[in-house]
Amino acid sequence: MKRKKLKLKKQAYYIFAGIVGIFVAIILGVNFYNDLKYKESNEAKLITIGYTLEQAKKIEEKLTKEEVEKILNMEKNDNILSLIEEKYFLMKNLDNYLEYMKKESEKSLTEIIAIVNTHANNKWYSKTFETNIDLKEQMLVNKFYALNENYNPENLKTLSLQYAYGEPGTNKLIDYAYDKYMDLWEAANEAGYYLMVNSSYRDYESQKQTYEYCKAAKGERKADEIAAHVGHSEHQTGLVVDMTSKNAPEDFKFKESEEYKWLKENAHKYGFIERYPEGKTFITGYSPESWHWRYVGIDAATVIYNENITYDEYYAYYIEK
Ligand SMILES: [Zn+2]
Repeated sequence: MKRKKLKLKKQAYYIFAGIVGIFVAIILGVNFYNDLKYKESNEAKLITIGYTLEQAKKIEEKLTKEEVEKILNMEKNDNILSLIEEKYFLMKNLDNYLEYMKKESEKSLTEIIAIVNTHANNKWYSKTFETNIDLKEQMLVNKFYALNENYNPENLKTLSLQYAYGEPGTNKLIDYAYDKYMDLWEAANEAGYYLMVNSSYRDYESQKQTYEYCKAAKGERKADEIAAHVGHSEHQTGLVVDMTSKNAPEDFKFKESEEYKWLKENAHKYGFIERYPEGKTFITGYSPESWHWRYVGIDAATVIYNENITYDEYYAYYIEK
């Protein structure tokens, strides 16, 4: 009896030891597996190439998995951390931002991003993309995006002499922009202002003449500042008005007028934006033109108004991406 009891005790001990052993093995195994898994995570890999834990977390928070993988293929660079914090950061432009930052170290990050996003780190007109006319009121025409000579809007509507200067029938807008311009005009009129259009749709040929005229009169550099190369004029879209006031005295400066102040606060409600604002020449390539207003649609105009950006920046970030 005594021996049997002893045997049973021994057996129980072995079973107990066996169970403990299995548990230990499981715990060790899980730890080992987790370790291995963490080493394969992007966070661990970011730390391996030199980022701190905090920086690695920031990178993973701001970027998609694919974007983080691109960062992993690059050398550690603290500028990346600052760039990804910027609102209009675009991953596809990262290499260009970093390169441009090296050359233009005195510029702010916001400027760097705006310039690279809009191609303005290149010489004006040094490269040309074709304007996507299917985007209609959101098409981009600037010093890098151009319309070709075949673009001829069919749905132009004529502004009568009540609204425009010049020979009858010379001022036209695309119908949907025309309708919104009428809404804008009415609202301005109710506020006590009488807007007049000086210039609107200009075809390919007349833009060519305008530029050639400026170039002959003022030289190429000045001409490039004030007039567009053929195909590069927004007036060719049929979505643009150059405005003045009906009651303008001879020394009238639109920029200093009440009409301009009113437009700045209200035009976006009708889908129009000031296309070449003050302080943005480094992006638009144009000296400020307080009279030049472009129809882009109410949604886009509202974003542009609220965020105080140019159409070039809007297009890069919200449309082209
Ligand atoms: Zn204009």
